[in-house]
Amino acid sequence: KLMAELKRAIGSNTLDLHYQPLVDTYNGQFIGAEALIRWPHVEYGLIMPDEFIHIAEKTGVIQALSLWVIRTAVQPLKAWVNINPDFLLSVNVSALNLQDNKFISALHILFEDDLKLANNMILEVTESQMMTDTQHAMKNLWDLSELGFHIAIDDFGTGYSNLAYLTKLPASELKIDKAFILNLENEPQNQVLVATAIQLAHNLGLKVVAEGVESEDTRILLGKLSCDFCQGFHFSRALPLQAFNGLYADNRA
Ligand code: C2E
Ligand code: CA
Ligand code: CA
Repeated sequence: KLMAELKRAIGSNTLDLHYQPLVDTYNGQFIGAEALIRWPHVEYGLIMPDEFIHIAEKTGVIQALSLWVIRTAVQPLKAWVNINPDFLLSVNVSALNLQDNKFISALHILFEDDLKLANNMILEVTESQMMTDTQHAMKNLWDLSELGFHIAIDDFGTGYSNLAYLTKLPASELKIDKAFILNLENEPQNQVLVATAIQLAHNLGLKVVAEGVESEDTRILLGKLSCDFCQGFHFSRALPLQAFNGLYADNRA
């Protein structure tokens, strides 16, 4: 029932996208944002993605959902790129999207008249998803990377990590999962893991984002560990478009 409603919500454009800033660890400037989906439901209130993404994946609704996210994000992205040509907007894609040639061709069509804009978009994929998957998803990911999209490995360090994937995916960015970052200053063992992950990523030529940065102490520590970018409640929660734009204007000022 919920999935039938989700399909209708996509069709009638009643889902919401919120945006959380990606921040330069050293100077605090917003370098971009991550788009995070929200579902305002008449009966149940605001439904968070952790509650419906996995069902959307099981039922195939994820194809329409991911396209909705990218279509919706393109308009604000164009405005941000006008302000800053290097602005990066991250969107989450499922490995199931990458297996679907219709999804890939829809992306081609969507960016056809503005191919340069792909350079301002990061597609976030999780390593565990890519591992359970096939050559086919991998080939499509390389195809998108050649089109200009940046690729980020999301939730790094959780699930069944396979280091080999770091070199097999066309990734330019590694996102360390918030499980390792929350309360980092009081977790010496996580500090060792995070420092090592950052070094590893840098040695492979990847930029590093820490998610779940909730305090200034964590930001300072991540700066000492040479982490390039931060994301977390310390800077802002994910916000509706207008609120994000207000915060972005303050940040530039
Ligand atoms: P994610 O990709 O790891 O996204 C980061 C999640 O961490 C977001 O939760 C964000 O609100 C939360 N977060 C950010 N900073 C902090 C912090 O400082 N502290 C804490 N405790 N949490 C923080 P959200 O928005 O509930 O999304 C949950 C997950 O749902 C996402 O995890 C992502 O896997 C998935 N998701 C969200 N939007 C989409 C989408 O459009 N498509 C797909 N396929 N998945 C999505
Ligand atoms: Ca993500
Ligand atoms: Ca995560």
